[in-house]
Amino acid sequence: MKELKVDLGARSYPIKIGSNLLQTLGEELKNLSFGGKLLVVTDENVYPLYGKTCLESLKNSGFKVDVLVMPPGEGTKGWFYAEKIFSRALDLGMDRDSGIVALGGGVIGDLAGFAAATYMRGVSYVQVPTTLLAQVDSSVGGKVAINHPRGKNMIGAFYQPLLVLVDLDTLNTLPFRELRSGMAEVVKYGIIRDASFFNTLYTALDPTFSQEKEFFQDTVYRSCAIKAEIVSADEREGGLRAILNFGHTLGHALEAATRYSYFNHGEAVNYGMLLASRLAHREGLLRKTELDLIEDLLYRVGFLEFPQNINVKDIVQGLKYDKKRKGEKTIFILPEKIGRVGIYDNIAEEKVEKILKDFFKEFNKY
Ligand code: ADP
Ligand code: ZN
Repeated sequence: MKELKVDLGARSYPIKIGSNLLQTLGEELKNLSFGGKLLVVTDENVYPLYGKTCLESLKNSGFKVDVLVMPPGEGTKGWFYAEKIFSRALDLGMDRDSGIVALGGGVIGDLAGFAAATYMRGVSYVQVPTTLLAQVDSSVGGKVAINHPRGKNMIGAFYQPLLVLVDLDTLNTLPFRELRSGMAEVVKYGIIRDASFFNTLYTALDPTFSQEKEFFQDTVYRSCAIKAEIVSADEREGGLRAILNFGHTLGHALEAATRYSYFNHGEAVNYGMLLASRLAHREGLLRKTELDLIEDLLYRVGFLEFPQNINVKDIVQGLKYDKKRKGEKTIFILPEKIGRVGIYDNIAEEKVEKILKDFFKEFNKY
């Protein structure tokens, strides 16, 4: 087992990463001096796989625990299901000493975290992320949210959990595309912050992701450590935290242009990183040799086939709705070399269009 601390003063918390950890959940919560009732929030895919182990562990440690099983998918991250959590919590008579455990991917983590942040002005919250994406991304930094019909993650808070417990065995059942989605974010950490991590991935990453447990343990650990370092320096996204958005400006535009129904998050971000790296090279910021290395690794993570019915205009339009936008300007995070990125708000729209047009030409060749 590996452990790291997300350093946020009084709100610091540990992330524990290893195998066979679900069965230790009860003991872990006891050590955190949890006293009151617990509500486990999960989804219909995760519950049959891992629900029993977690619930038994909690009960064996003496907890009064109930479970709420949500439908899977992004559609669950809204008021309707948040209210289901609040209603169940009220039915159970949960008070300020009670706690919420999120068992699932990013959707469950965000939704249950949002409920924990707001129920009775905040109750204790523990995350048990079961997707690679949630393990390396949403489990660090305390962003919790639900969607609004007019935008993703529009209603939310910064609310840190007391503990994140990552059981790597849960990755055994994760569908391939979900693994790929998480792996894109993993590669992102290497590009933005850590050339040596990038090199490790470059040497070891196998496109089928049939890696040893140890690879995943190191990978999740190093990813969390990089994000933790960035988040500790900038908890509420004043400056440095923006670099985590590498690949996301264009990635979000791709997700939006395909109505969030074609790509999953990391798959769109993988294209976003490819395009942003090409843009950086075109701007004279990134050398060709480094661009080639980046592209190699992104191809290893793998690209979902680009959809037919999408054009440059749709994507450029999508950039205008970017939440991270400052006024009229679109912010791009561009690599200057592997392990270092800069924040740019002065990239002309025509240049972005040119990168996209060239990319479309290349894509149409195949
Ligand atoms: P993400 O973490 O990518 O934001 P979700 O919470 O939507 O995403 O999870 C992605 C999908 O994978 C959902 O359908 C969820 O039910 C399913 N899932 C989550 N964890 C596992 C797992 N360990 N094994 C199998 N399926 C899982
Ligand atoms: Zn992301």
